[in-house]
Amino acid sequence: PIKNIAFIGLGNMGGPMAANLVQKGFSVTAFDLSQPSLDQAASNGCEKAASAGSAVQGADAVVSMLPSGEAVRGLYLGEGGLLQVMDPHTLLIDCSTIAADDARQVIAAATDRGIHALDAPVSGGTAAAAAGTLSFMCGGEDSAVDRARPVLAAMGANIFHAGAAGSGQVAKICNNMLLAIHMIGTAEALQLGVDNGLDPGVLSEIMRASSGGNWSLEKYNPYPGVMEDVPAARDYAGGFSVALMLKDLGLAMDTAAGSASSTPFGALAKNLYQLHGGDPDIRALDFSSIQNLFRRPVGN
Ligand code: NAD
Repeated sequence: PIKNIAFIGLGNMGGPMAANLVQKGFSVTAFDLSQPSLDQAASNGCEKAASAGSAVQGADAVVSMLPSGEAVRGLYLGEGGLLQVMDPHTLLIDCSTIAADDARQVIAAATDRGIHALDAPVSGGTAAAAAGTLSFMCGGEDSAVDRARPVLAAMGANIFHAGAAGSGQVAKICNNMLLAIHMIGTAEALQLGVDNGLDPGVLSEIMRASSGGNWSLEKYNPYPGVMEDVPAARDYAGGFSVALMLKDLGLAMDTAAGSASSTPFGALAKNLYQLHGGDPDIRALDFSSIQNLFRRPVGN
């Protein structure tokens, strides 16, 4: 059974995920390039390591939660990469959202060395990371996913096995592409109603109970004043940023290009988020701020 875990990348997501592993009784050795992130992890009960290589010594599993495919490939592959120093019995779990091809490359290289590996990107955001209620979408062999389950269960509420290596990443970007599309459609429909004299709350109730009902209307209404405790209620601060949505839509479009799939609404969603997120201050806002693209000054 897995007891000792090396955790690499203790940012907005990795920090609270590692804290939950500690809470559930795992012994966690942490490494991050950022000293403040590492100090925060130590205050949550993690052991600090001086490098990624030293963090994996004696680990039963390594969990990585990094910003990009480049960072994940840099961590594991090549000269000085973790695959060269990891014990073959150490399970590799990468929870970062990266291109499926990058995930497959890392997992194939791990498999060549006899190391079990899986991609396990998450859905749920920082609140779910803190609450331990993330959804994991796993790609890899049954044996690798089954070994990872107790670790993932300590950080999440749902564990899905999507398919072979890279499938977790594919599931994740399919979901987020659809999320972008229905969020934009919801904002567009709400604005059409408001521009024609409807109250956005009344219209939201009607559509929720009708065939236009969807997750954005149920849980994450983009129109200010309709719901409490959503980013729209606080000028779109916090939540899931436009920047991260753009990253995921970029991965979706790359994947679509690779498989020659037709994704017209995904392409349009990416374009609209690019238009909306031209300013860095806006890219930091929650993605439901796309409502502002449709809102017009009073009187127009
Ligand atoms: P973040 O930028 O807050 O954290 C990333 C951390 O990785 C930073 O602390 C950084 O210093 C560290 N890091 C970068 N390269 C490193 C390296 N080579 N070695 C060690 N540490 C390194 O990002 P985040 O919000 O925690 O997101 C992490 C991943 O989770 C991303 O792939 C993101 O797309 C995905 N994700 C994020 C959310 C969210 O709501 N934030 C939701 C779902 C998925």
